[in-house]
Amino acid sequence: MKTTENTELLEALLTDAKPVYHPNTGEKIPENGDLIIELSPSARAGLEAPRYCQICGRRIVVQIRPDGWDARCSRHGSVDSKYLHR
Ligand SMILES: [Zn+2]
Repeated sequence: MKTTENTELLEALLTDAKPVYHPNTGEKIPENGDLIIELSPSARAGLEAPRYCQICGRRIVVQIRPDGWDARCSRHGSVDSKYLHR
């Protein structure tokens, strides 16, 4: 295993890639788009941390800080909310 940080999850969020798993519920999102993803406004603003990796559906480890959060999937790397502010 390489120790280099994987940035797949961060890249997926930054590019608005279609999630495979719902970031808040961990539910698999069907290809036909039956499940509409409704993120709360604070989640959209990057103020609310995701609970599941949107790529693999694993539970991610979240650390809440006074100024935001960071979330880490053991497979797909970590995301810091500071990168999501646009
Ligand atoms: Zn993942």
